[in-house]
Amino acid sequence: MSADDAGAWRVVVRVSALYAALAGIAIIFVRISGGDARWEWIAFAAGTLAIIALTALIALPRLRRLAAATAAANALARAEFGLHLDVAADELSPLAATLNAASANLDLLILTLRQERAQLEALLNASSDATVAVDTAGLVVYLNDAARHLFATAGDSSVERPFIEMVRDHDLNDLLVAAAQRAERSVRVVAYGQAQRWIQATAVPIEGAGAWAALAVFHDLTEVRRLEGVRRDFISNVSHELRTPLSGIRAAAETLQEGALEDVSVARDFLGHIQRETDRMTQLVEELLELSRIESGAAPLQFSQLDVGALVVDTAKRFAQQAERAGLTLAAVPPTESVEIIGDAERLERALGNLVANAIKFTPERGRITISARVVGQDVAIEVADTGVGIETEQQARVFERFYKADRGRGSGGTGLGLAIVKHIAQAHEGSVAVESRSGRGSTFSIRLPRR
Ligand code: ADP
Repeated sequence: MSADDAGAWRVVVRVSALYAALAGIAIIFVRISGGDARWEWIAFAAGTLAIIALTALIALPRLRRLAAATAAANALARAEFGLHLDVAADELSPLAATLNAASANLDLLILTLRQERAQLEALLNASSDATVAVDTAGLVVYLNDAARHLFATAGDSSVERPFIEMVRDHDLNDLLVAAAQRAERSVRVVAYGQAQRWIQATAVPIEGAGAWAALAVFHDLTEVRRLEGVRRDFISNVSHELRTPLSGIRAAAETLQEGALEDVSVARDFLGHIQRETDRMTQLVEELLELSRIESGAAPLQFSQLDVGALVVDTAKRFAQQAERAGLTLAAVPPTESVEIIGDAERLERALGNLVANAIKFTPERGRITISARVVGQDVAIEVADTGVGIETEQQARVFERFYKADRGRGSGGTGLGLAIVKHIAQAHEGSVAVESRSGRGSTFSIRLPRR
């Protein structure tokens, strides 16, 4: 028997008992007035049974539905939604319809709330900014994926724990506690953690959000600051590189003005000096433009099929005279078999040219320079080896940086951009560049390119 049936039967028994009591009173009344006792009791029993049967027949279905409606209302009160009552054509049908509508509306409301929560969660987790919510006691009540990453916290282990335990930084904690306990809104930039990341923290108090007393967003400014530094260094380097030739030109022009113009041979010397400085500035500007073109992709690479052996031999020919003038031996060692790559001929000639020009510049007289190429697995390595001054170990990693000159006192007259250009050209070909060197013994620069 279902719970609805049991409830309905209880009501039937109670109503029947009431009828029986009334009938009993009627019999006692008849006995007092002097009737036949046996027939009275038979009539009483038959009447009672008839009443029970009639009551059950008429009331049972309605009582069963009423009990079901009560059970449904109780379920709603317990937040158990998704029920459905039959809506028969009787006096209980408006109640059943109302309960069904209430349940359907609550179902929809819960679904909407769940969807909004999922959307909010997705939004906060998609953000690269770390977001943390705390309660008035400073306990973490929410943190997004970026916060887990920034504060190196696994899973939800930080929820319900004090924020200070998670960040171990009093500046950040004070900010959030001030927002949660004193409703103070603030923004601060702090150097966070051992890696000293620059973090901009914005803490805001929240009203009417239950346990969420304050919310903080942490924006990592480290990369922005680094780029600002790079930009500052770049401007200062360019200004520095331009200042030297400009002051040379100015000094030569002043000397000419002050009378050197009258002496033809002296004037020729100064004009030669002006020309060399102008060439240096032109080279600087050209190299800067080339770097920016490769980096920005403004001038895309012009790919074609290239013979690596020919590239090696042609470069050696191009620099033969220059090497001879410097008293150096320049040799080309092309690969034994034919090796082809897909690359930008002009850019690769330029990269190899920069390496050979450096080798000539940094190798004393009677030295030897070798341009070679060989297959290494899936790649081809094009190498320029010299027997020159070499590069100190600690400087080797930095020579590919822009404007970096390993030994500024050496006065190579270069811009410090040549190797940066080589690196960018190699990378634009999905390759790389490396150096092996021993101070005083020479250097080997190697451009590695994928064979395709
Ligand atoms: P630069 O215009 O000064 O040559 P690069 O970017 O081409 O600029 O080179 C950066 C620095 O690396 C040079 O100033 C030099 O100190 C060092 N370097 C480059 N090539 C060689 C080499 N073959 N031998 C020794 N030092 C080198």
